[in-house]
Amino acid sequence: MDGVGPAAIESRYRDNLAPCAPIEHDYVAKAAAGELYLLPRIPSLRGVDQEVFGELRKSHLINLYERYLRPEGKPGRNIYQQIKVSANGKCPFCGGIGHVRTLDHFVPKANFPTYSVVPGNLVPCCRDCNSDKLNSYPEEMAAQVLHPYFDDQKYFSEQWVFAQVIEASPPVVEFFVQAPEHWEAFAQQRVEAHFIEYGLAEKFGTEAAADLPETIQTRATSLLNFSADEFSNYLLEKSQTLALPINNWRRVMFLALARSDWFCSQEY
Ligand SMILES: [Zn+2]
Repeated sequence: MDGVGPAAIESRYRDNLAPCAPIEHDYVAKAAAGELYLLPRIPSLRGVDQEVFGELRKSHLINLYERYLRPEGKPGRNIYQQIKVSANGKCPFCGGIGHVRTLDHFVPKANFPTYSVVPGNLVPCCRDCNSDKLNSYPEEMAAQVLHPYFDDQKYFSEQWVFAQVIEASPPVVEFFVQAPEHWEAFAQQRVEAHFIEYGLAEKFGTEAAADLPETIQTRATSLLNFSADEFSNYLLEKSQTLALPINNWRRVMFLALARSDWFCSQEY
């Protein structure tokens, strides 16, 4: 909290934020239960600056981020940078296609100013994902996108991104969502919402289109003598040895290529 400016402002923050320690704990618990949509919401009313904590109004809490955490030269900037580098430069929303450029308020500060500087709510993010994301947070469980750090483990350990090979010249890899059937309906809807909101069909498809020529080139040269089955096994092995997360586009792509009899038996 050091460095937030004049002593009077600083003590206003200190006095009013003291009872807020359980906030992050509650935030993480709700995120893990898929219940962030239940967080207290502050409606945006034109010309009204609501009181949120004691004397702290909505604008004070938003300013805490805008003026004291984000700007270069402020002591809070160290925390901002620490969170930003924690993703190793890879945007967690698109699986590392985009480079981290900013911090995303997972629940937006406009309706949830309480969480404007709660670290768990600040997710390193690429520009595309930041601008693709809606500026309002859904009011129902099934419409929520996935929190990359706290959401239920099943979203990260079970496959729900799949791809199919379109028989064309050159071949096209098309991505889609197929959630495990044993998941609850809301969980199936959430991954669908996530896939749509971040435009993952297009992002993944574009990456695959750029990556595929290398595999085709390998097939046409060093793997020329492989049978279709041998080539399929090579692709399958590649999907596993890359050690990528289960829903990573590249892993999913190699799996789809391996399973396509057409792709494996084509002459290139
Ligand atoms: Zn991204």
